[in-house]
Amino acid sequence: MLNKKLQQTLPSIQPGWVWLAGAGPGDVGLLTLLCLQGLQQADVIVYDALVGDNILALAREDAAFEYAGKRGGRPSVKQHDICERMVELARSGKRVLRLKGGDPLVFGRGGEEARHLAGAGIPFRIVPGVTAGVGGLAYAGIPATDRHTNSAVTFMTAHGADGGLAKDIDWDALVKASPFLVIYMGLSRVGQIADKLREAGLKSSEAVAVVSRASMIDQKVLETTLGECADDVSKAGLKAPALLVIGENIKLRQGLDWLGAIFEGRTLDPDVGHIRPQGKRFDS
Ligand code: SAH
Repeated sequence: MLNKKLQQTLPSIQPGWVWLAGAGPGDVGLLTLLCLQGLQQADVIVYDALVGDNILALAREDAAFEYAGKRGGRPSVKQHDICERMVELARSGKRVLRLKGGDPLVFGRGGEEARHLAGAGIPFRIVPGVTAGVGGLAYAGIPATDRHTNSAVTFMTAHGADGGLAKDIDWDALVKASPFLVIYMGLSRVGQIADKLREAGLKSSEAVAVVSRASMIDQKVLETTLGECADDVSKAGLKAPALLVIGENIKLRQGLDWLGAIFEGRTLDPDVGHIRPQGKRFDS
């Protein structure tokens, strides 16, 4: 837990305030100090499905917990109701920690919630977290950028507001502009996404990785290709949450999979994991 000096150095949640915080992708070690301070000071913790028990266990002993996510087929709590509940808690003088997976402003509706609080005159602080698309990839040994392969990376979701595949994505522009794609909420639509990317010109042999439950105890990484990913994913039975990752950097994983090396007791060879020097990504 935080020592006295750190506790005093960091800001404290005041009564009537909401801290909108990200808990990172899963590993407790990826919590920020501010998030830990929030956990230890909050009277009420309003948390989402992606926040694990290992993290909630760090809360103050007498903290109250309110679940605000989807789990086990239960109907999800309505976004508006979550916002209203936070306002109600803050107005009653509680110190509220609103805890989300990853970073609260990355595919996490944190912006919407903060706007609602602002509209109701509730003071808040935003506490960033390690987003899955960065921290989760690091746990899979896949660099988000590498100077030999990509000077751009795209974090995206293919999940549209209506629950289907997002309709407003310009797939042609996407594959041309970004050599490395990190797709959130894509696991259940992997086949459709692969089809769109191939229609946009990416080769069937393009490297794909699926990083399931990154930084959690049951993390799994599947390396496959655009042509085979849909079949491979259903065969492997990977669990959510998972990221779909597309691009050459995946090949660096062979030399960078530090977590696999720890589990399997092997050493990493810096010479394995290569990148095609002038690889052509497009069919046309
Ligand atoms: N705010 C979160 C993202 C929420 S959207 C963040 O910044 O990370 C939910 C999606 O995030 C999941 O469908 C999955 O694609 C991704 N995700 C979150 N945690 C993950 C994890 N530990 N491993 C793999 N993907 C994860």
